Amino acid sequence: YEAKRDRTGVEVYEAARDGNTPDRLGLLADLRRALDACEVELHYQPKVGFDGRVAGLEALVRWTHPERGKVPPDEFIAIAETSGLMPQLTEYVLETALEQVAHWRRNGLTVPVAVNVSPRDVHSPGFAGAVAARLARHGVPPGALQLEITEHVLLEDPQRAADTLAGLTGHGVKMSLDDFGTGYSSLVHLRRLPVSELKIDRSFVARLAVDAEDAEIVRCTVDLAHSLGLLVVAEGVEDDETWERLRDLGCDAVQGWLVAAAMPPHEATAWLRSRAAGRAPVRSAGTAG
Ligand code: C2E
Ligand code: MG
Ligand code: MG
Ligand code: MG
Repeated sequence: YEAKRDRTGVEVYEAARDGNTPDRLGLLADLRRALDACEVELHYQPKVGFDGRVAGLEALVRWTHPERGKVPPDEFIAIAETSGLMPQLTEYVLETALEQVAHWRRNGLTVPVAVNVSPRDVHSPGFAGAVAARLARHGVPPGALQLEITEHVLLEDPQRAADTLAGLTGHGVKMSLDDFGTGYSSLVHLRRLPVSELKIDRSFVARLAVDAEDAEIVRCTVDLAHSLGLLVVAEGVEDDETWERLRDLGCDAVQGWLVAAAMPPHEATAWLRSRAAGRAPVRSAGTAG
């Protein structure tokens, strides 16, 4: 008990410099406990082509706090990032996602899964090797795993990041560049990152159908990505009009509530099965949440 109090004291000191509030500290302690208690779950959101082909599923972490209810990932991921808890969270997410992929594969569903990783992960020495070992342990081929990174990976130590990413792609893991367009020098970053997919940030997609400038940004992004040999996925597609505009602009796949929100594993399994059987519509509005 004394040791715990000491550790908490250190956290209070460091967090104060980060501008952390006692509320954030409470949440951090709870998250640490939640990971140990496996209270954190993964939901899965499909990426689909315009012909309905399922390109993959993105694993999105979900935490239901016993008293506070659902805590938004953006909130607790920021806390994990600044507190040193990120490696533990990523380990948990990778482990859970690979278990799920292996389970789906045993049941004839060979869909790739994408896992979000933070810049911290990419900067941790040995990350690429650890991922490869984990894949081998689960008997999952590297091509069935995609890692979503943001261009922030290049901010801190570009060489270290480049080495890790080269290691991962060398093992056969696919890399995807998430939230494209929100960083400060996207073009330079894009050229330096060994990614095979680019995801256009929801902020450009949301108003695509009504804002000519956003439409132009999306058009340029699609053309740029294709000229570099990358696949383009649009995030946050919520309506038919946006879907149609993206298809016309030559986007390769979409993700969004129009197709399906992130689903708990058993629902994702049912969704995959209905797709495989050709029973589900390509688009199905009204699943927001
Ligand atoms: P992201 O990777 O860009 O994920 C897309 C976010 O958009 C998800 O939010 C998803 O639920 C939401 N979304 C999907 N379709 C729609 C739509 O049609 N409309 C709207 N309004 N939103 C949509 P979520 O799950 O809250 O995750 C937020 C962010 O948290 C993620 O952004 C990602 O950066 C991070 N994140 C989530 N899970 C993990 C994880 O396991 N590890 C790490 N490091 N980060 C994660
Ligand atoms: Mg993502
Ligand atoms: Mg994104
Ligand atoms: Mg995001």
